Amino acid sequence: MIDILIIGGGASGLAAAVFSKQTAPDAETVIAERLPRVGKKILATGNGRCNLGNRNLSADNYHGSVDAMDVISRTPSAEEFFRSLGVLTFSDEQGRLYPYSGAAATVLNALRQRAETLGVRVECGFAVSGIRYGNDHWEVTADDGRTLKCRRLIIAAGGHADPKSGTDGTMLRILRDMGYQIAKCSPAVAPLKTDPALLKGLKGIRARCRVQAYAEGKYLHTEEGEIQFTETMLSGICVFNLAYLWGRYGEKLRIITDLAPDMNTEELCGYLREVRKLSGEAPVSELLCGMFRRELAAYITKAALRKKDIQQIRKLTDSDLRHVADTVKGLSFPVTGCAPWQNAQSTCGGVKAVCIGSDMSSKLHGNLWLCGEIADTAGDCGGYNLQWAWSSGILAGTNAALSLKGSKR
Ligand SMILES: Cc1cc2nc3c(=O)[nH]c(=O)nc-3n(C[C@H](O)[C@H](O)[C@H](O)COP(=O)(O)OP(=O)(O)OC[C@H]3O[C@@H](n4cnc5c(N)ncnc54)[C@H](O)[C@@H]3O)c2cc1C
Repeated sequence: MIDILIIGGGASGLAAAVFSKQTAPDAETVIAERLPRVGKKILATGNGRCNLGNRNLSADNYHGSVDAMDVISRTPSAEEFFRSLGVLTFSDEQGRLYPYSGAAATVLNALRQRAETLGVRVECGFAVSGIRYGNDHWEVTADDGRTLKCRRLIIAAGGHADPKSGTDGTMLRILRDMGYQIAKCSPAVAPLKTDPALLKGLKGIRARCRVQAYAEGKYLHTEEGEIQFTETMLSGICVFNLAYLWGRYGEKLRIITDLAPDMNTEELCGYLREVRKLSGEAPVSELLCGMFRRELAAYITKAALRKKDIQQIRKLTDSDLRHVADTVKGLSFPVTGCAPWQNAQSTCGGVKAVCIGSDMSSKLHGNLWLCGEIADTAGDCGGYNLQWAWSSGILAGTNAALSLKGSKR
C-alpha cells in the first residue's frame, strides 16, 4: 500500500511530492502521471523561460472563490523554494521571477532531481479514470485497468488549459461525480475574440495601451501593457488578464482601449491642434502619423471621421479633433468569445473554496488533498499561476505527510 499518492506530475504535484517526502522521508510517495514524462507544461511556461513567480503578489492578482493569498502567505516564496532546490532566480523590473539560466528546463530538472533523490517513485502513462474510497484507503484506477491503493491521496491534476500537456479536465469531472462543487470553467490568461469587421486594418499591429473591461455599462477591471490585434482577436498580456471575466459575463463583456494612456483628452487635443497648425496641405491620413504606426493612424482617423468628407488636416475643426482624440482614447470592442483551451494558459473556475480547507485538504473526504489549477483560483499572467501551484502543492504535500505521523501503517 502506497503511503502518499499524487495524481498529476505537473508544477503542484512535483512541489507536493518534494515536500511530502521531506516531511515524511520514510513514507512511500508515488506520482501517477498520464503522460510519458512529468512536467511537460513547465517546459512551455514563460515562452520556455518559465516565469516561476512574482515579487509583487496581491489578492488582486487572483480571481475565484479560493483565497490564494492566504495559502501563499503561509509557504516559502518562489525564490526561497527554488533556492532550496539549488536554483538561482532573478526578477525583471515588474517583479517577474525567472530562473537565472533563462531556461524552463532548469526548473523542471531541479524538481525532478530533488524528487528522485528523496526517493519519490513516478508511474508515468497512468491516466486516472476513477477514484474510490473504501476500508481506510483510496483506490485509484487508470483507464487501462491498473489500480493503485494509497493511504493519502493528493489530486494535482490541473484544469482544462493546454490539453496537449495532459490537462483535459478529467479529474474535475471525476470530482463533480464525487459531489464536489465546481465553479464553471472557462479559459483564463488567453486572447479574447471580437467582431472581425472591427479588426479590419489592425491585424498584426501592437501598441501600448490601457484596456478596460465593462459589462452592461459597469466598470470591471483595468490593465496596461502592449495590446496585439489579430484577424479575430485582441491579444497581449493586458488582454490575457481580462479573459477570466469572459466566464462570468460572456457576451455582455466589452473592452475599451485607450491608445494614449499617458495623456488626457485635453493634452491630446492640444497636440492635435499643434499638428493642424504645422500641417500645411498635408492630407487627413497624416494626422496621427507622428503618434502611431501608419496602419493604426489610418484606422483611427478613418473610424473617427467616417462621416466627414475632409481632405486636409488644416480643414479639421476643433470638434473634429476632439472626436479623433476620443477615438484614440476609447475604441470599443464587444467580446464575442474567448480563445479555445489550446490557446489558454490557465483555467478560471474549478473546485470551489467551500470544498477545500485552508490546509488544502478536502472538506468532503478524509485523507484527500487538492492543489494547483484544479482549485477555483486563476492567477494573472506574470508568474502568479506557478506561485499558486508551488504554494498549494507545498501545503498539500506537507499536510498529507504530517497526517501520516502517528497514524497506524
Ligand atoms: C503555454 C503556457 C505557458 C504558461 N506560462 C506560465 C508562466 O510563465 N508563469 C506562470 O505562473 N504560469 C504559466 N502558465 C500556467 C501554469 O503552467 C499552470 O497554472 C500550472 O502549471 C498549473 O500547475 P498544476 O500542477 O495545477 O497543473 P499542471 O502543471 O497542468 O499539471 C497537471 C498534471 O496532471 C496530469 N494529469 C491530468 N489529468 C490526469 C489524470 N487523469 N491522470 C494522471 N495524470 C493527470 C497532467 O498530465 C499534468 O502533468 C502557463 C501555462 C501554459 C499552458
